[in-house]
Amino acid sequence: MIKRSFFTLTKPRLDYDLVEPDPKEPEPIPIPSNLTLLLNEPIDSTRQALIKKGDAVEKGEKLRLYNQSTEYTISPVTGTIRTIDTYSDDFANISTYLVIKNDQSQTTQTDSITYDLKDDIASADEYLRTLPGAPPLKILANDDVKINTIVITCADMDLLSTTNQYITLKFLDEIKKGAQVLKKITRVPKLCITIPEGLNIQGGFDSIQVFKTALTYPSNLPAMILKDHLSMILPAGKTPEDMGVCFITAEAVVSLARAYKTKSADFEKILTVIGKQGTQYRVKATIGTPLRKIFNTFSIHVNEQDRIVIGGPMKGFATYTHHHPVLPDMDTVMIQDRDIIPEVSDYPCVNCGNCLRICPANVPVNLLVRYLEADQYEEAADKYDLESCIECGLCAYVCTAKIPLFQYIRLGKHEILKLRAEV
Ligand code: SF4
Ligand code: SF4
Repeated sequence: MIKRSFFTLTKPRLDYDLVEPDPKEPEPIPIPSNLTLLLNEPIDSTRQALIKKGDAVEKGEKLRLYNQSTEYTISPVTGTIRTIDTYSDDFANISTYLVIKNDQSQTTQTDSITYDLKDDIASADEYLRTLPGAPPLKILANDDVKINTIVITCADMDLLSTTNQYITLKFLDEIKKGAQVLKKITRVPKLCITIPEGLNIQGGFDSIQVFKTALTYPSNLPAMILKDHLSMILPAGKTPEDMGVCFITAEAVVSLARAYKTKSADFEKILTVIGKQGTQYRVKATIGTPLRKIFNTFSIHVNEQDRIVIGGPMKGFATYTHHHPVLPDMDTVMIQDRDIIPEVSDYPCVNCGNCLRICPANVPVNLLVRYLEADQYEEAADKYDLESCIECGLCAYVCTAKIPLFQYIRLGKHEILKLRAEV
């Protein structure tokens, strides 16, 4: 059972951080000897696989498990497949991981395979899903999903992260070029961009509508952008895509601009790293790099029982291993010292009402959690608004009893999706 809350790394603030006006270059992390890639498809031992241990791969090569697979990953290096095995995530979803042994002579400058990229979304989706920032090309290429608005997010979604703000300050011209690429390949009529209030951006955005987002958390979450800037209320159980709105990070847009310029993929991911004392670092690491390589660079010693959190303090999730790789959509990584992780909290709800007062979606969290603790997910959804939650994490932050409310909610939503899929 999940017992602990994430929220004692530092004293979390409820204002977003603004990137420094003249940000430092990220610390480059050397390409490691082994890189780990995740592939969103389970191994099926009854089928003939297209790839196997010992196969040589090229930088930029598309890797799929089976002939009919629609899921793929792209090798960031030239090398050899060392391992193909089953990966199980937090919720016991099964997928696959690949370890690629890097050809040691390679540098980031090594040429990548070029693609026959055309000016349409199917072509982009064919090769570019795993670019830094993880552009949502699968959604945009899905004929069953009608997107009429794309929102480019320069405002980072969680606290402490400045990854996308940094990219906005440094690569604004490429964001504009990437926006033109997006327009051309998707033909989506409306493009918008979120810029945090106080971020000093020179020049305009032509036909792109600018949303200035408040510095107060959770202003940058998709549901809040919909409400505050597009006058849309996200209905319970729906996603922004269901409403015709697709969100894409500034980094993903820059990656698209570069891919269309070079006809090849880039693999260098920018991350905000939060050390044990709350010190912030910015790094540039190849997708697939184990997190321990990053921690080693800054002499951050990972002890047993320290906690690594992928994502920020409000929305992040813990991983049990420092071998966890850098992923295309990983903007922030935090490490919490074992001595300041809170003790197990088994306290019952004391009905203080803090969660009710802070919830931006008016979820009756104090009642909801009783059903989630009892694994009564359908009641939680039907009677206590589980699916109205916009996953901001604020209830867990203010909970007097230190109940890990957010983890219960995430698990509850996952279980509901599973139950509905079985019907
Ligand atoms: S995470 Fe908690 S506070 Fe935030 S919307 Fe969901 S229930 Fe409300
Ligand atoms: S904040 Fe925690 S203790 Fe207070 S009412 Fe909500 S669940 Fe109960």
